[in-house]
Amino acid sequence: MRTPICIAGLIMFVAGTLQTIAQTKPSADLIITNAKIWTVDKSNPTAQAVAVLGDRIVAVGSNSDVDTWRGPKTRVIDAEAKLLLPGFNDAHVHFVSGGLALDAVQLNDASSAEEFVHRISERAKRTPKGEWLVGGDWDETKWTPARLPAKELIDPVTPETPVFVSRYDGHMSLANSLALRLAGVTAKTPDPPGGVIVRDAGGKPTGALKDAAMHLVNKVIPPLSHDQRLKAVKRALAHAASVGVTSVQNMNPDYEDIAAYSELLEKGELTARIYAAPLITQVDDQTKIGIRHAFGGPFLRIGALKAFADGSLGSATAYFFQPFDDLPSNHGILSDEMHPVSLMRDRMMKADADGLQLCTHAIGDQGISMILDIYSEITRAHGEADRRFRIEHAQHMAAKDFDRFVQLQVVASVQPYHAIDDGRWAEKRIGHDRASRTYPFRTFLNRGVRLAFGTDWDVAPLNPIFTVYAAVTRATLDGKNPNGWFPEQKLTVPETIEAYTMGSAYAEFQESEKGSITPGKLADMVLLSDDILSIAAEKIRDVKVLKTIVGGKIVWGARQ
Ligand SMILES: [Zn+2]
Repeated sequence: MRTPICIAGLIMFVAGTLQTIAQTKPSADLIITNAKIWTVDKSNPTAQAVAVLGDRIVAVGSNSDVDTWRGPKTRVIDAEAKLLLPGFNDAHVHFVSGGLALDAVQLNDASSAEEFVHRISERAKRTPKGEWLVGGDWDETKWTPARLPAKELIDPVTPETPVFVSRYDGHMSLANSLALRLAGVTAKTPDPPGGVIVRDAGGKPTGALKDAAMHLVNKVIPPLSHDQRLKAVKRALAHAASVGVTSVQNMNPDYEDIAAYSELLEKGELTARIYAAPLITQVDDQTKIGIRHAFGGPFLRIGALKAFADGSLGSATAYFFQPFDDLPSNHGILSDEMHPVSLMRDRMMKADADGLQLCTHAIGDQGISMILDIYSEITRAHGEADRRFRIEHAQHMAAKDFDRFVQLQVVASVQPYHAIDDGRWAEKRIGHDRASRTYPFRTFLNRGVRLAFGTDWDVAPLNPIFTVYAAVTRATLDGKNPNGWFPEQKLTVPETIEAYTMGSAYAEFQESEKGSITPGKLADMVLLSDDILSIAAEKIRDVKVLKTIVGGKIVWGARQ
């Protein structure tokens, strides 16, 4: 007789508990309904609606599933069947330079030396006396005819303005005569290790300085004021929001940049999540504090180090096993951090021993190979661990090194936009065989190498849509390869989105926090004007961002 009573009691108890749960289940702060959601979550790839509570996703499913989270105060956005993706995570940016570039002289699309000079001249007229004219992102390969600029071009229009305008790849800058004078650079100045002072036939500097030689002038340019820096960061954040970038991984920031992020974090004004990787030359600072990789909170993390193995292909400073086809006496240069190589090895060993993550810029095949040598020495010395070594750019692979990427579980942190940009001229510089292993995204994926996508902003545009377009089409910017430059290396749209979300999240140890639209993860999402999964590939570059949501807050687009 006792049993039925017990069951009845149990039923009453369970019912009461369920009722309590129903009563206490909070309602969502935000629901996006009637969307086409591509979640990048393999257990639940597509959905119609998502609910957000605080800064986290709490439900993903059909409109009716998610509607159970609706309460009187829930903001509901009707997505009108548009595509909703996880927010883009740019794995490689120079955030403050990007913010500064938005306000600097624009030289990148100048199509001739005359236009380059004209724009510098106009900017110099508006530059207060004594202030430096910097930035620019010039690209002489877009000029007709293409030729490396020299100071004589710009001296007549900048007699009183020191000029140090950078090439878009960041590996070469052009100084005018006043800037060289202020920096004390003369015919007698020797090339520093890891750098080149470009000289004329008589041995005099032309004003073009490559890699480490740029320090000669950079060190005499007054540092940014705190106010200038804050403004640059705010400009960069606004730009990121407008193009759907919800996380950035900031390579070689100044410490003052991190201080600016930290100040904005405290004020609640960070609208993108930042993982900052200062230069490995400062490894001692982070090891002294004792922090490890990905240390910090959802909006700001440190614990990684950026190192440089070599330069760039465009500046002919990427380090190759064999000489350049168009410059047979040159096979690139190692960065100053690699002089000697044991210095780099010691710093990396130290960083790894203390749990810091290594993100190493390596572009030429030999530069990449030498870094893989060091990574494998580290693994042998310190044993297996989840360390997520990264090679930034990984542009020109030696055939033998794909296997080592896999064995050492190195993340290829790559920037597809560079492929459609460099693809215009790269084959002339390195020949067909090496070009066939250039930006080899498909080979990486097929071998099982993890990809993280980014832009290297302000080397390339921050807008992820251009990067998706580049990875999917490989159609070079000059229109000469409409079916793709080395088309066998194209990726599909879903692969591209995954590399830009989960791939980048993995590269910063955050794959359980972001990278997909999954209950429990941070509510970082982007709503697009068109469905990039189904439109023609060549139309992708015209797609716009309608809304950007970071931690459940709308940081771009109409609030509805
Ligand atoms: Zn970079």
